[in-house]
Amino acid sequence: MRYIEPHGHMVSRVTDDYIDMVTAGCACVCEPAFWAGYDRSSVNGFYDYFCQLTDYEPKRAAKFGLPHFCWLCINPKESEDVKLAEEVVALIPKFLDRPNVLGIGEIGLNKNSKNELKVLEMHIDLAARHNQMILVHTPHLEDKLKGTRLIVDAIKSDKRIQLDRVIIDHVEEHTIKLVLDAGLWAGMTLYPESKCSPARAIDMLENYGSERLWMNSACDWGVSIPLNVPYTALEMKRRGWSAEDIDKVVYQNPLKFMSQCKKFKLPKG
Ligand SMILES: [Zn+2]
Repeated sequence: MRYIEPHGHMVSRVTDDYIDMVTAGCACVCEPAFWAGYDRSSVNGFYDYFCQLTDYEPKRAAKFGLPHFCWLCINPKESEDVKLAEEVVALIPKFLDRPNVLGIGEIGLNKNSKNELKVLEMHIDLAARHNQMILVHTPHLEDKLKGTRLIVDAIKSDKRIQLDRVIIDHVEEHTIKLVLDAGLWAGMTLYPESKCSPARAIDMLENYGSERLWMNSACDWGVSIPLNVPYTALEMKRRGWSAEDIDKVVYQNPLKFMSQCKKFKLPKG
């Protein structure tokens, strides 16, 4: 099997996870910038984190033969402080030319607050000015539907943004149609406890088709399973999916989306 992990927070994982992912057929991992498990005290914390995502972590992944790409932003969980967000948004262009940077992400909303929305719009503007792709985080539980609507509206209202270069992640049964109908890509996050289980993700694929959809494990500092994409592929096989149709979801779709960034290239063979 071959697959792509399009959303994995590898800075929070150990080297055994890299070995397991490569052994399972992982062709590359893409790491959106997010919360570090704690709030950073200044813009310097983000400078160091962006260095980690664009320098140290790709080198660590390369030791296991795994190409590593990333996305940059100040995440919604730390977006209440608008002044800090402005400093981080001003810092990001210095990193955009680095060879493993795919775009701006994971931006979005956490509690759907006014300040979060303001910072989301700052990031959409940043992406538009620098012709960057966008990866979006959506809020959890009761905030998800409202937050997803706010995000889709904010993206659609900036006419400089090409919709098929944007992915809305963590969709669930009540938000997937809204995202796909808007012409955006959708991501399903396979968590053991919340977000979306493998069985629910396959149900959604069977209901909505597999165009403009990908699956990821998020594999962060919380309870998560770095191999949840290949585990779900096995479950798809058990439910009668063909090898070709599984490959489309776990490999070809993320490849198609991310290949819209010229820097996204996988080694041949
Ligand atoms: Zn994430």
